[in-house]
Amino acid sequence: MAKRDIQTDLVHAGEVAPVEGAVVLPIFQSATFTSQPGEDYDDIRYLRLNNTPNHQVLHAKLATVAGGQDAVVTGSGMAAIAVTLMALLKAGDHFLAQDCLYGGTHSLFNEDVPSLGVEFDFVQGNAPQTWEALLRPTTRLVYVETMTNPLLEVADLEAVVVFARRHGLLAVIDNTFASPVNFRPLELGFDLEIHSATKYLNGHSDIVAGCVIGSAEQVGRVVHKLNHLGSTLDSHACFLLHRGLKTLALRVRQQNENAQRVAELLQGHGAVDRVNYPGLPDHPQHERTQRLFDGCGGVLSFELSGGVAAAETLIEQMQLPKSAPSLGGVESLITRPAATSHAGMTAAQRCAIGVEDGLIRLAVGIEAAEDLCADITQALEQL
Ligand SMILES: *Cc1c(COP(=O)(O)O)cnc(C)c1O
Repeated sequence: MAKRDIQTDLVHAGEVAPVEGAVVLPIFQSATFTSQPGEDYDDIRYLRLNNTPNHQVLHAKLATVAGGQDAVVTGSGMAAIAVTLMALLKAGDHFLAQDCLYGGTHSLFNEDVPSLGVEFDFVQGNAPQTWEALLRPTTRLVYVETMTNPLLEVADLEAVVVFARRHGLLAVIDNTFASPVNFRPLELGFDLEIHSATKYLNGHSDIVAGCVIGSAEQVGRVVHKLNHLGSTLDSHACFLLHRGLKTLALRVRQQNENAQRVAELLQGHGAVDRVNYPGLPDHPQHERTQRLFDGCGGVLSFELSGGVAAAETLIEQMQLPKSAPSLGGVESLITRPAATSHAGMTAAQRCAIGVEDGLIRLAVGIEAAEDLCADITQALEQL
């Protein structure tokens, strides 16, 4: 069959024949499933093994939309990241990781990975000429994120793939911020794509979930480790993720448009010093995102000339966005990273990575762009 649009695959890919005529796959709330004569251990279906009918439809759908051979869902995004690294690396191995990572991932690498006997070095995502010097004979893998939080820097993703190929490394990417609607890293040559499905994939801020997508061989390694560690996505959460995925393309395309409109409004406003959004022509990696992405996502960040005080007033005055961490849901969320995701660092450490104390992060939802823009405009007038 001709290649279908992702919007069609999100609805139809992986779906099974109706059960008792039900148009929607029911929740199989069963820990264990009967076995047939002649089946062996690998055929056992059991909830911890993430292989109930609710899991299997998700795996098939996610693999199709991301262009992978196989996929597996996990109990959270962090579980997906931790299990992937544990599956692919063993004591004595070394890997390279982008230096500006999601906070939970940063803590996992710094606090837990060393005790597994695995070493790593941070690399600058946009300085590929510096990566080779950090290679060791034991280097196995390179780990990056599609866009950094909260500054929306886009690493040289094409160079990552070329570098990994040349040196026989696995290339792993956390593609949470783009979702497969905006970017499909497996098509570019990445080996494994990880998501916090808590964010865009589910899209309704009501579960935590993760997934890993890639070749049958690499996903098989992850599944084997996952079965030992027991990070299961519960059947009911599977059902919600399945439901959320069907509208992923509609939601993300609206979020792309909303973020672009809001970024342009902010950039033209006298009270705003700086706007970070890859969809703006003056973003340092704008040209790359136009080439590689179908959209720049729903997250942007900005600084006001009034600093922290102005930031707090703006957050207070905005009517639509709720003040909460996370992103990718239907509702807009706003935070000041220095007081939330980056509160564990000192002001000097934050400054060194470009996160000023007055920086505001806005993760837009699917509200009408006009209403979001009107809300920001009225809040800016209160400053
Ligand atoms: C939220 C997030 C995670 C962690 O996912 P959880 O589902 O909260 O465990 C990992 N990476 C990125 C980029 C995220 O935004």
